[in-house]
Amino acid sequence: MAVTPLAYGDGMATDLLATDEHHHQAAPTASSHPPPMTCSVGTLNPAQQDVLDILGACGDELPQFDPMLRHKLQAELEAGTCTTLADLPDGETLCLSKHQLTAVHGCEARLVAEREVPFEWTAPLARGAVAHKAIELSVFMGASTPPIVLVEEAMASLCRNESGLADWLRRIAPRERAELQLEANDRVSKFVECFPPLKSNWVPVTESRLRVELFEGRILLLGRVDLTLGRAQGTTAKKVIIDLKTGGFAPHHIDDLRFYALLEALRVGVPPRLVATYYLDSGRPYAERVTEAVLRAAVARVRDGAQRLVGLLHGSQTPNKRAGAPCRWCPIRAGCPEAGAFLEDEP
Ligand code: SF4
Repeated sequence: MAVTPLAYGDGMATDLLATDEHHHQAAPTASSHPPPMTCSVGTLNPAQQDVLDILGACGDELPQFDPMLRHKLQAELEAGTCTTLADLPDGETLCLSKHQLTAVHGCEARLVAEREVPFEWTAPLARGAVAHKAIELSVFMGASTPPIVLVEEAMASLCRNESGLADWLRRIAPRERAELQLEANDRVSKFVECFPPLKSNWVPVTESRLRVELFEGRILLLGRVDLTLGRAQGTTAKKVIIDLKTGGFAPHHIDDLRFYALLEALRVGVPPRLVATYYLDSGRPYAERVTEAVLRAAVARVRDGAQRLVGLLHGSQTPNKRAGAPCRWCPIRAGCPEAGAFLEDEP
């Protein structure tokens, strides 16, 4: 995949955000590399510079898209899901998020079993929410704010809400709270250390909700994007959508972001130019340039997932099993012979 370095702290930064298929960035050539960069927030370290090289683009590389693209994609989605709509009981709405699409394209038995388990906040879920909130606050409180302060502010802010997470945070024991803060602090520190400080002219937006309605709201496509940078200009794609992850690469991370690119294209009329999963533990982004082919792959995945989900939930289809690493978190793993070797490391 072609990668173009982005100058940090100069006019090119406003074009931050172009790029491709599963990303493996070529090393920038000496002639294309910008000189060492300094700006009001200081010189970037090599990890931050790598991120900028991967996510950046020059103006002449920014892709243009057909102004009719959103209408074409909407028509393709509705044509592909009209039989799903016919199978959807009256009064029901089908909501599809990246999690539901991953679930239905993974082990269907697990998906069905998890629907029987009431949702509860847990330490790992809360840790992610607190870390994301702290990273969001870092955009506005400045890169020099210590991560632990960002985490404390994030927890205070979340506790002020009327939400299940706020109730859970208010209920936990002091020791559990301290552990949560330490783990969230680790994530935020990694982001601050290896991601370039976000500049206001990159138009950073965090935790942005996306919603697309098909068939006047009978089928909803929903998303919440961790971080976006840039904004489309006319029919020129400039936005980069970034998902923040701990742990390592999984193939569905690519599909998650293609889904977000599709939602963005349907919402704005212009897709992001690039989507990227940023891995906090390794400090590396894995990026893909958005093309019409990428968007059509996302349309096909939504179409197939919607059809299968309605068949499982409202039809007579029998859930298939697909064993893999996710067996470790499956609520019915104890009685599932297919889980086999994937549970060998279980305590
Ligand atoms: S244990 Fe694994 S194979 Fe069995 S239902 Fe759960 S996820 Fe599917």
